Amino acid sequence: MPRSTLLPALLRRLGLLLLLCGLLLAAPLRAAELLHTHAGDASVRAPLAIAPVDDAWRAALPRDAKLATQAYLDRLPKEAVQRSDAYDEGGYWLQVWEVLIGLLIAGLLLQGRRTAQLRDWAQRVGRYAVLRDGLYGGVYGLVAGLLMLPLGFYKDYWREHGYGMSTQTAADWWAEWGVGLGIEVVGTALAVAVLYAVFRRAGERWWLWGAAACSALLALMLLVSPVLIDPLFNTYKPLEPGPVRSAVLTMAHATGVPADEVYAFDASRQTKRVSANVSGLGATAAIRLNDNLLNRTSLPEIRAVMAHELGHYVLNHGPKMLMQFGLLILSGLLFCNWAMRRLFARFGPRWGTQSVADVASLPLLSAVFAVFMLLATPVFNTIIRTQEIEADRFGLHLARDPHGFAEVMLKLSDYRKTDPGAVEEFVFFHHPSARHRIHDAMRWREAMGTP
Ligand SMILES: [Zn+2]
Repeated sequence: MPRSTLLPALLRRLGLLLLLCGLLLAAPLRAAELLHTHAGDASVRAPLAIAPVDDAWRAALPRDAKLATQAYLDRLPKEAVQRSDAYDEGGYWLQVWEVLIGLLIAGLLLQGRRTAQLRDWAQRVGRYAVLRDGLYGGVYGLVAGLLMLPLGFYKDYWREHGYGMSTQTAADWWAEWGVGLGIEVVGTALAVAVLYAVFRRAGERWWLWGAAACSALLALMLLVSPVLIDPLFNTYKPLEPGPVRSAVLTMAHATGVPADEVYAFDASRQTKRVSANVSGLGATAAIRLNDNLLNRTSLPEIRAVMAHELGHYVLNHGPKMLMQFGLLILSGLLFCNWAMRRLFARFGPRWGTQSVADVASLPLLSAVFAVFMLLATPVFNTIIRTQEIEADRFGLHLARDPHGFAEVMLKLSDYRKTDPGAVEEFVFFHHPSARHRIHDAMRWREAMGTP
């Protein structure tokens, strides 16, 4: 194929590829899901019907943490437990599918030297190495984003509606997808330009300097996204003075969090999920909670959630996680170094790329790294889950209301499996299971002798 026709040819084939991807995905995924959901009527279903209880019920709970935990879990309707189990288990397979499609994208670009042709085109247009790499990164981000579309649509729109979790119309979903794709293209272009400049200078030690650069980019993303990206999808407004605002600020000030506003955002535009966070570092700390939390939960439950979120901030979980992920990325790039040497030796001439410092090998790097991350799923999840357990325990001390905490854990059970096996929890869970979390709260209650 003449080089100048590469892009149009790639785009022409994209339609066919999208169709192929859709067909590949639709059959097995839908078959597994149809057993549990009916996409048509589910979007109007209320999140979960958990029978409310009163102080008398709480006072009559057994002192023993195990028995009290069971009493809480027994309040979940059976059908709801089955539904959230199916939702979570389907999610495990989605992770595998994501990696498989990543491999497919790499295969498509490497085969027939498409990636080498794309690099040569970027070289002619960009002239300078940094511009060439950025241009290549932008096109790569676009191609990957488009090829991931069928899975994305299924996962974030179709499936979420099937489980009655989404509140979005199709038009809203498409608009957000477009914005997300734009961010991905620009973000990939910038990241690839920086990374390959580092790879070229670092030579043999590309994995070491590459890990440092990736960690720096990750830190930058964590700092920048609350300010630049989140507002593209939701509106953040300071909470009006009232009991919720003062309860949250009291807990913040008691633990030295430098914040004097609480922001509420309109997550109900997209989902029925309850969530909150404390973002930023140091003086840029911002306490943010979503309107589902405000509308679906009581003040004791909001206090429990926000005490947990403040825990993440006070315990410096952001910087610690960055360091741990930095080590994980370093291990991943070492794995890539080992695997890519062998792959280059065998297939390099056929692919038209034979060096890590060549931006044309990006599809290979990202495929090998994705395989590493899939294998490292338990490590990745355990890093996060450990912090979640710490934040839970911090939150219990701060809010001192184990029942508020247990109650909100029941509400989170509409999208999280409540009682997984030990291995399943270790491998797949980035948050502890509801059983573990409620048990932590009931153990606190048992030990402290509170009502
Ligand atoms: Zn958390």
